[in-house]
Amino acid sequence: MNTEAVSAHLARRAAVIGWPLGHSISPAFQQAAFDAVGLPVTYRAVPVAPDGLEAFVASLKHPTDNGPEWLGVNVTIPHKQAVANLVDDVTEEAQQIGAVNTVICTNGRLIGHNTDAIGFLRAMLDRDIDPVGMSAIVLGAGGAARAVAVGLLRHGVTELAIANRSPERAESLCWTLQDKFPRVAVKPLPLDAGVLRTRLAKATLLVNTTSVGMRGGPDPDGSPVPVDALSERHIVYDLVYNPQITPLLAGALAVRASVVEGLPMLVHQGAASFAQWTAVNPPLDVMFAAARRAIGLVS
Ligand code: NAP
Repeated sequence: MNTEAVSAHLARRAAVIGWPLGHSISPAFQQAAFDAVGLPVTYRAVPVAPDGLEAFVASLKHPTDNGPEWLGVNVTIPHKQAVANLVDDVTEEAQQIGAVNTVICTNGRLIGHNTDAIGFLRAMLDRDIDPVGMSAIVLGAGGAARAVAVGLLRHGVTELAIANRSPERAESLCWTLQDKFPRVAVKPLPLDAGVLRTRLAKATLLVNTTSVGMRGGPDPDGSPVPVDALSERHIVYDLVYNPQITPLLAGALAVRASVVEGLPMLVHQGAASFAQWTAVNPPLDVMFAAARRAIGLVS
């Protein structure tokens, strides 16, 4: 952890980087957190094109613009894997997930870390939902699915199925995970209504990590599974955070299933990055309030 930044009270900067960045709400809740604990840090959204990534990461160590030193950055699509090859060290968590969502600048070194899995789990545990012993289905096989699957496998699910529109991506992710977690059965499935209906009859936890249901995404009004396959005994977690209640979650609420929305994961992964950068307890209430305000502004 970066205690140097806290004790020195020197002005620092932090950012979220991605391409295209679109409208990120990370600056709203991270800046609110720095302000609330009285740290002189400025947090911005910085679009970084893929061909500028290497130079940008180098500038985290050696700023060329006379600006303040960097505390760290959050990393989003499409840079999470590429950044792992550009930092000095990668934590075990980030190695397991195969992606970096947080860079920590400390003592002249860049450490690549990943807080997505812990953010995902904390949002569940906040609702008193513990995945230990559950049979789970993860929808999607992109970057978020990797973090979710690692979080679930580390946290004691007994069975994991990964269903994806492009079946080869689900298969490849399952092979990688099965190799790392040989004691749990990890099985690929097609994203097919009939197959998912059958599997939901025995699974408890359903996690959507596809972009289906996302405002402005490929299928904003859709649900990745038929909602009539859900029942009261299911726990349905949707990583999509805008809107807060997606068509999938609306269907789950209609049958009195337990639900977890995507916004708490977003705030918790950001809070875990904040804690790594500063060694200060993140002011969660402030961060949640700022995130909810920011989502309201973009909806
Ligand atoms: P990604 O790597 O681009 O993966 C996107 C996934 O969505 C892939 O599995 C893709 O399937 C699937 N998909 C896209 N359009 C689809 C469609 N029309 N029908 C079925 N499947 C479709 O993106 P990501 O980083 O994993 O993010 C995925 C979602 O999670 C986004 O909505 C993102 O905002 C959200 N997310 C939330 C948090 C949070 O903290 N709450 C964190 C990370 C991500 P194919 O492989 O077939 O293309």
